[in-house]
Amino acid sequence: MSRFDGRVAIVTGAASGIGKEIALRFAAEGGIPVIADLNLDAATATASEIKSKGGDAFAVAMNVADEEMVEKVVGEVIAKFGKIDVLVSNAGIQIVKPLVDFPFADWRKLLSIHLDGAFLTTRACLRHMYAANYGRVIYMGSVHSKEASKLKAPYVTAKHGLIGLAKVVAKEGAEHNVTANVVCPGFVRTPLVDKQIPEQARELGLSEEQVVKTVMLKDTVDGEFTSADDVADAVLYFAAARSNGMTGQSLVVSHGWFME
Ligand code: NAD
Repeated sequence: MSRFDGRVAIVTGAASGIGKEIALRFAAEGGIPVIADLNLDAATATASEIKSKGGDAFAVAMNVADEEMVEKVVGEVIAKFGKIDVLVSNAGIQIVKPLVDFPFADWRKLLSIHLDGAFLTTRACLRHMYAANYGRVIYMGSVHSKEASKLKAPYVTAKHGLIGLAKVVAKEGAEHNVTANVVCPGFVRTPLVDKQIPEQARELGLSEEQVVKTVMLKDTVDGEFTSADDVADAVLYFAAARSNGMTGQSLVVSHGWFME
């Protein structure tokens, strides 16, 4: 008997990076991840990889910031599986620029994916979780849910906001046996971070190696990136919660970069 036998989890942004690792790990423990991503080809490839390892998975195209699409996909998942046990609201992007130069359109784009996306997927899933009297909601925060960095105004704002949303879901969901948590990773070497290294180097006048050593990993205890596996451990811990004991809490997974 595995921890997630028969459980169904919608994992947004699971075609790549951290979300993909969460989906692989959830499937490896008997669960069925719904790989919901803007990039359907990559989502389908992730689902195929899971199936080739003997697991089960379902790939769907979803733009988390599109209300109609979120409602449609959640309806499809219910029609196919009859329930949603877990939501991992993970899809996200990064845009780095000094605040004084930040285009309003980029600010809105980032907030809509991180915050509108978290709200829309949560609302759509909660209705079914309440009906089933069970649900586990996990938001992908960041050390930037607790701490700020230069050049990341909308990202830091959005990631702080997710902590507030999780606390509300924890309070409103409690009577329906629905818990909510935030996992807050340090830097994980995914396409999202690979893209930032040259951008930050340009903005800060540093070499790429200096960005990694003196900006990204400077305060870790071991000079190491956080791994997607480290993050998946924490997400699956909350996904397997047996009670409200930890609900509303956020957990930092950052190799000691940020300690509470
Ligand atoms: P990634 O770029 O590897 O993967 C992000 C995925 O989200 C991609 O598959 C992309 O297609 C998808 N996506 C983007 N916009 C979407 C949308 N509107 N609707 C649906 N899917 C969409 O990035 P990652 O590093 O794995 O990041 C995943 C999450 O982890 C993000 O929320 C990010 O902010 C957070 N995070 C990442 C790091 C890090 O260092 N990589 C650290 C802390 C938090």
